[in-house]
Amino acid sequence: MFIGHFAVGFAAKKYAPRASLAALLAAPLFADLLWPPLLLLGWERVRIDPGNTKMTPLDFVSYPWSHSLLMDVVWASLFALGYYLLARYWAGTIAIWLGVISHWVLDWITHGPDMPLYPGGPRYGLGLWNSVAATMLVETAMLAVGLWLYVRETRARDRIGRYAFLAYVLLLLVFYFGDAFTAPPESVGQIAWPGLIAGVVMMVWAWWFDRHRMQAKTPALEFQ
Ligand SMILES: [Zn+2]
Repeated sequence: MFIGHFAVGFAAKKYAPRASLAALLAAPLFADLLWPPLLLLGWERVRIDPGNTKMTPLDFVSYPWSHSLLMDVVWASLFALGYYLLARYWAGTIAIWLGVISHWVLDWITHGPDMPLYPGGPRYGLGLWNSVAATMLVETAMLAVGLWLYVRETRARDRIGRYAFLAYVLLLLVFYFGDAFTAPPESVGQIAWPGLIAGVVMMVWAWWFDRHRMQAKTPALEFQ
């Protein structure tokens, strides 16, 4: 799953409006942000295998540290704890904990049977990726709902808040639909390096435009 993870982060803004969108996105994307550096370190492995599922030419040979349920619970707890110590904001802390774990659940629905319960443990996957149409329908619908919640919860303070946000969404869609029509990568480096760089850029960019948006509704407390 790709834009579906972004959908979770955008939607979380409704429940944790004072948390930065960057943190709310980094949580559901955490496993995928961790994956490229682990590939480069050789701790996790992927094989290029066109036709593995209809949606991706990748065979996820082994990714116990980024993509097992047990490790995702560990990452969720560490991320949530770190966030709580910095921000002292319960709604954001809970959104982050649930967000990190949501990655496993959503990947379990989309991937073939390669999602481990724990490192070295049994692997599961319902295989939504065997249908391109179904995958795109589900993910596009998820993103639409996530964006709708985000747009209702926030409003642009200035042009950056409006246009940098719109450009972000547009780029997500271009990545997502463009990827379905491009040739498979030729090497693991061609996945890991762009993945690593894109991950950092997308988080910083989200932090940037989100700072230029504000809560659409003034919290009731401010009237008291
Ligand atoms: Zn993933």
